[in-house]
Amino acid sequence: MSTRPLDGRHRTVVRLGNPVLRERAQEVPRERFGTRFLTDLGRDLLRTMFEDNGVGLAAPQVGAGVRVLAYYVPGERDRHEVAPQVLVNPVLTLLGEPTELGWEGCLSLPGLRGMVPRHPAVKVSAFDTDGNPLTFEAEGFHGRVIQHEYDHLDGIVFVDRMRDMSSLMFEEEWEQYAKEKDLPVEV
Ligand SMILES: [Zn+2]
Repeated sequence: MSTRPLDGRHRTVVRLGNPVLRERAQEVPRERFGTRFLTDLGRDLLRTMFEDNGVGLAAPQVGAGVRVLAYYVPGERDRHEVAPQVLVNPVLTLLGEPTELGWEGCLSLPGLRGMVPRHPAVKVSAFDTDGNPLTFEAEGFHGRVIQHEYDHLDGIVFVDRMRDMSSLMFEEEWEQYAKEKDLPVEV
């Protein structure tokens, strides 16, 4: 288990219906790299995500319309842990076809689960909050979390990506009835 960041403050996560979730978030201008604004936002996203038991959170979900997202992939079963990470102005290259189905949830759609098709892997180029460039490839669950969070920066939520709405269900019913429960994403 990674050490969870204790700094930053908890922010309220907005829910579907708040217009900020449907707007395209703005690029962070270069002059804001390394500023208190951006480092605080990154820390607050991570803290809020951990306290609300999510594995990812995008800035629009705390009412900030900028292209910043945070995530943490806990190592469980056959899944490798990915350390807490904040990405600023991420650009994704989607690899393969969006044919991998997996359960997702979202802190902005509390209590709901649905099967969402995603690309099997993504190439990511982004910056950290100090403006250092980051490039890497993410696959499987890690890639899924990044695709989900990136969508928030374009005003897209997971239900928009669902092909079969019959898999949309509440968490309790999901526990009771859903088949092939791999690890859910609460992001
Ligand atoms: Zn989400």
